[in-house]
Amino acid sequence: MTGAVPTIGVLALQGDVREHAAALEATGAKAVPVRRPAELAAVDGLVIPGGESTTMSRLLEVFELLDPLRDRIADGMPAYGSCAGMILLAGEVLDGRPDQKQLGGLDVVVRRNAFGRQVDSFETDLAFTGVEGGPVRAVFIRAPWVEKTGDDVEVLAAVPAVTSTGKDPGAAAGRPVAVRQGTVIATAFHPELTGDGRVHALFADVVRQS
Ligand code: GLN
Repeated sequence: MTGAVPTIGVLALQGDVREHAAALEATGAKAVPVRRPAELAAVDGLVIPGGESTTMSRLLEVFELLDPLRDRIADGMPAYGSCAGMILLAGEVLDGRPDQKQLGGLDVVVRRNAFGRQVDSFETDLAFTGVEGGPVRAVFIRAPWVEKTGDDVEVLAAVPAVTSTGKDPGAAAGRPVAVRQGTVIATAFHPELTGDGRVHALFADVVRQS
């Protein structure tokens, strides 16, 4: 797109839509909710929020958005998925529900609820490639991690062996939790919840440049 102010949609079927919209507006983009195919057709990029990937998958079908969204992602529309959004963008999901649908866009295998069902949330600071100004605070809520990345996927952040909170990351150590493939970005965590707008700014730049 060439205009200075990109229009970035937030998939508004479920999840923390408002927080993403606020984070996008803070980057200078125009944020709009997307619930219908016509709304999807009008955006320059799309954020797929956290929530519950199985529910969002079902609602994508009910709202007749699954195929239009798959098509736009395949056509190169920039997309950013956080948590459940990462799961939806992944090519393959482990521990998913057999009927849950994928949008594609990211050649990765993710494991759903990977941090363990008992561990509802986990926090640490992360070094994040492409984000200036020091580590990003990552809040994981029943989050996935990435188990396998295709050749075209860049890992932007991984769980450190020693977390900034002192909590042992256990099997999460070294797992990729932020990835990029072309104009598609995903994080297993929720930058929209911490008031740190740098990941949304990175995505808004991707949209501006595409
Ligand atoms: N566990 C959720 C899922 O499978 C994701 C959780 C989240 O988005 N915070 O979709």
